[in-house]
Amino acid sequence: MKAGFSALDPGDRRNKAKVSLTTSTYELLIRSVVDYAIFMLDLDGHVMSWNSGAERIKGYTAEEIIGEHFSRFYTEEDRAAGLPAKALRIATESGRFSAEAWRIRKDGARFWAMVVIDAIYQDGRLIGFAKITRDMTEQRKAQIAAMESERRFRLLVEGVTDYAIYMLDPDGRVSNWNAGAERIKGYALADVVGQHFSRFYTPEDVAAGLPRRALETARSQGRYEAEGWRIRKDGTRFWASVVIDAIYDEGQLMGFAKITRDLTERREAQQQLEQSREQLFQAQKMEAVGQLTGGLAHDFNNLLTGISGSLELLKARVAQGRLSDLDRYINSAQGAASRAAALTHRLLAFARRQTLDPKPTNPNKLAADMLDMVQRTVGPGIALETALETGLWPTLCDPNQLENAILNLCINARDAMPDGGLLTIETANARLDDATARLHGVEPGEYVTISVTDTGTGMPPDVAERAFDPFFTTKPTGQGTGLGLSMIYGFAKQSGGQARIRSEVGRGTTVSLFLPRHLGEADEANPPSQLPSLPRAEAEQTVMVVDDEPTVRMLVAEVLEELGYAAIEAADGTSGLKVLQSDVQIDLLITDVGLPGNVNGRQMADAARQTRPDLKVLFITGYAENTVLGSGMLEQNTHMLTKPFSMEALASRVKAIVTSAPA
Ligand code: ADP
Ligand code: MG
Repeated sequence: MKAGFSALDPGDRRNKAKVSLTTSTYELLIRSVVDYAIFMLDLDGHVMSWNSGAERIKGYTAEEIIGEHFSRFYTEEDRAAGLPAKALRIATESGRFSAEAWRIRKDGARFWAMVVIDAIYQDGRLIGFAKITRDMTEQRKAQIAAMESERRFRLLVEGVTDYAIYMLDPDGRVSNWNAGAERIKGYALADVVGQHFSRFYTPEDVAAGLPRRALETARSQGRYEAEGWRIRKDGTRFWASVVIDAIYDEGQLMGFAKITRDLTERREAQQQLEQSREQLFQAQKMEAVGQLTGGLAHDFNNLLTGISGSLELLKARVAQGRLSDLDRYINSAQGAASRAAALTHRLLAFARRQTLDPKPTNPNKLAADMLDMVQRTVGPGIALETALETGLWPTLCDPNQLENAILNLCINARDAMPDGGLLTIETANARLDDATARLHGVEPGEYVTISVTDTGTGMPPDVAERAFDPFFTTKPTGQGTGLGLSMIYGFAKQSGGQARIRSEVGRGTTVSLFLPRHLGEADEANPPSQLPSLPRAEAEQTVMVVDDEPTVRMLVAEVLEELGYAAIEAADGTSGLKVLQSDVQIDLLITDVGLPGNVNGRQMADAARQTRPDLKVLFITGYAENTVLGSGMLEQNTHMLTKPFSMEALASRVKAIVTSAPA
């Protein structure tokens, strides 16, 4: 068999169209090529030769196809459109036809073919065509997939409405624009293409050079991120979160991709949340202040009694010309006055609205300074103890909030001990290793703990579990808001610490705050002032004075001394009762109603009357203690004097009672 052909560029073919090959290794080579279908067509398009690649790609054997017309490789549509003939015509006219298109295999499947048809000349005469076809289906599929994903991505970007996504050229001019950009900024694509992006910035930011710096940062660091006010087309402002990415192609800056989100609503919601948090804190603080004022009114009455009583005695001494030893009254009045001032100060400081301002704080000092206030708040029925670690580390927190937290814990403790009990405020340094820290839900490290423990009702597990929830309360309406512990929890978390409850029903509760250690010194303030110590008096008739307020006790004793009575003093019900139950002569018991410890004034008097049925009693009472005495008539031999009272009123009252016959 003789097969001669040549494949030439169109320009060459007329000049050198005479390459002739006899059967040779070259033909063998072509036959065995499998990646390309290489075959000859005669002038009419009938297949004249067939190689291995053609067999593989098109599926026909040489026997099946030789002599057949090549148009059978075309799709039906292409055949109907006359493409096979057209291809041969083009190859004839210009020397070569090339195309990429779908072709059909023997089994009917389509494949994407890259086709070249060359006109073949022999001795200057067109003898047929050489056809080379490559199967590019895989590449085509990948290409289509890439195009599709690009198209989808573009649709996605264009369709996104939550984000403004757009491109800037290297100078910062807008080059494209998506739906989100249109929605957020209010400009249509046509409005902004080619415009500099600084028009979205506020005049202040533009004046400050912000847009330029943003691009500079993106250019040098790859990305710029910020939040700030931006301007819409209609001139309104919105709070934007902005990311600008520099786009480089082979080291060349192509421009910037910019993504902007409108966070105005979120920002407003956040601010509202913060505001309501602060309002909650404020409301809750006022609740605590309300709890305080009851106790403080009582306290103020005591202190005022102390001040005015000292002054009265001073006046009386001066009038009598007894001028020695007057310092005592002056000191006592001053002591009471400065204590009243300190209490007022504290109450005001506490009630004052303050921004949350963490500073180095010494919890020991803070706790010590508020003991007085705590004792007033929890009342005399509850004993207050402290266990403050010496060398306690400072912590970084808002001292107002810490004070508020401790006070609230004490109020909770009081509520849990309606029949009295022991309240302990404890501080400690704590080094938490991994395991302990995990147990407490904090990072391992050094902490200061502040714990408030009561011997009250305790909490069942389901209450303890929910106790930190806002508005969770087991107290009757009007008594609990359920905010105390939730604020405390929030405060501890915000300070980088934790709050924990340990509680056992019937035994009591400990609530602990873990606050991170602060490395550095705590701010120190003035130490609290001390009250002067007290004198005693003796005479034939004896009056027992029980009051936890030393100034009141001293003044009453003074008055008694003036009157010629001996005075025995006690600071609480238990020690008062001890004296009353002895056989010491006592002609009158003067006692406060609210007393620290387990025995109040009323209970002490009742107990004393077991052995001294005719005991005369004068209750000196402050604010709401009248309820302790019971409503209605006072018992026999029982009298009442309300604080504040003048020394004169006390003297005449005492005289009247002692000299009266027992009823
Ligand atoms: P409130 O005191 O207004 O009820 P809190 O948030 O301070 O709100 O406390 C929530 C609940 O946790 C209380 O109602 C009570 O049931 C329980 N609780 C808190 N402290 C104690 C405590 N020391 N002893 C027993 N129960 C407590
Ligand atoms: Mg509470």
